[in-house]
Amino acid sequence: MLNDKVALITGSTSGIGLGIAHELANQGCKIMLNGFGDPLEIDAIREAIETKYSVEVQFLGADLGHSVEATELIEETEAAFGRIDILVNNAGIQHVSPIEAFPIEKWEDIININLSAAFYTIRAALPKMREKGWGRIINVASAHGKVASVNKAAYVAAKHGIVGLTKVVGLETAQENITCNAICPGWVKTPLVEKQIDTIAEREGISVDEASRKLLGDKQPSMRFVSPEEIGAMAVYLCSEVASNVTGTAISIDGGWTAQ
Ligand code: NAD
Repeated sequence: MLNDKVALITGSTSGIGLGIAHELANQGCKIMLNGFGDPLEIDAIREAIETKYSVEVQFLGADLGHSVEATELIEETEAAFGRIDILVNNAGIQHVSPIEAFPIEKWEDIININLSAAFYTIRAALPKMREKGWGRIINVASAHGKVASVNKAAYVAAKHGIVGLTKVVGLETAQENITCNAICPGWVKTPLVEKQIDTIAEREGISVDEASRKLLGDKQPSMRFVSPEEIGAMAVYLCSEVASNVTGTAISIDGGWTAQ
């Protein structure tokens, strides 16, 4: 159990981040949600987690594309709960395009949100974890943190970058009661991937189900999507005491994608 630990999960209004928020709340963590969305829907998400697990849940809408907001998110989480024990850098976006047509602003957005934001939040959160003598940092990278695919220049660069950042933070905290690890999922059926499935279906004139099978068949030998709950369970393990010597790693949960 992680009773009364305070966990900030960026990008937790949807998909993987929301799955991680549920699993950490189930362990007794107080939760700070973050991300975009309709305010009423976000409040319903917040209340549902609070009621289901009897833990305090709050929300901050910081835009992680901006360094100041990313840093303030840490300060405001500490102000709200008095501490920050677990930081999950999960917020991310995707854009798919050949490099010569890749819009410069998309490159900048992806590098800012998927990579630089984690640097800003870790930089601000580490001193607070050191003060309390305990901390867990989890960066949600991707199979694309280990291998590449065509047309994903910014995403693959950012995800390889966050795996490198994870190693550095793991080394810099190795003798403290703080760990930093990356989780590297394969395909997870979230809005980020559903958009890519719809594009395949449209481009090839096939159904969404056929497009899903094609997406999996190209990369993921298990032929099954990873679930947000499975990733949440891995986050719980990384936060547990038995994982105190697991640091600086990039752990795959990808149905065999990167074994090929
Ligand atoms: P998603 O689109 O369901 O969720 C993304 C979350 O990030 C949302 O809560 C969104 O509001 C938030 N977000 C986006 N831009 C933001 C910003 N500027 N500031 C704050 N929050 C912002 O996507 P997902 O698939 O759950 O992705 C979550 C993470 O998992 C991403 O880092 C993604 O790269 C990674 N990932 C996803 C898959 C997959 O197959 N879905 C695979 C590997 C890794």
